[in-house]
Amino acid sequence: MLRTPMLGRNHAKTSGFSILAKQVWGALRSHRLRPERLCSQVPCAQRRNNALHPLWKGPASKPGGSRQSPINIRWRDSVYDPGLPPLRVSYDAAACRYAWNTGYLFQVEFDDAIEGAGISGGPLENHYRLKQFHFHWGAVNEWGSEHTVEDRVYPAELHLVHWNAVKYPNYKEAVMGENGLAVIGVFLKLGSHHEALQTLVDVLPEIKHKVSCTY
Ligand SMILES: [Zn+2]
Repeated sequence: MLRTPMLGRNHAKTSGFSILAKQVWGALRSHRLRPERLCSQVPCAQRRNNALHPLWKGPASKPGGSRQSPINIRWRDSVYDPGLPPLRVSYDAAACRYAWNTGYLFQVEFDDAIEGAGISGGPLENHYRLKQFHFHWGAVNEWGSEHTVEDRVYPAELHLVHWNAVKYPNYKEAVMGENGLAVIGVFLKLGSHHEALQTLVDVLPEIKHKVSCTY
């Protein structure tokens, strides 16, 4: 289902929505993610009326800290690292298992028993296997991404979640551990019809209700 995701600022193909096409940014977050805050699963429509993102309101959240998620990416704060090797991405569509409704979003799960599929290189010390991907979107086109760039919100955001298969025996333990997860975030903009994305959209009517699932 997912063959060549878009990374960095290069254009490539993802799968999913017909309305979404162009990638703007790919972020890699691999270090010390707090598993309980892997990403926001608060319905996106609720966020619009909040001056501060709901994830920044909890007792463990301190706006301005160095490990915040979501984050507002600012070009002037970005530092180019010439020493970083290329990120290697290899996905296997045959490993796609099912899509389900988490109650907040829909998630596509992969068989992660296979060593080959996943990501490595870049800032990663180990190989990380693809576990699942999901999208964040909003009630209106203009507002859906979890993260922002220069305070700009994008219509949607794709998260590809990988776990450290070298350091941990399974995803569950990786979620709780240091350097356990690596997530690629892809901002999506409105665009022309996207056939590969449409195949994913087509299964959504089958998982309209919470915890419903389709294989
Ligand atoms: Zn997410």
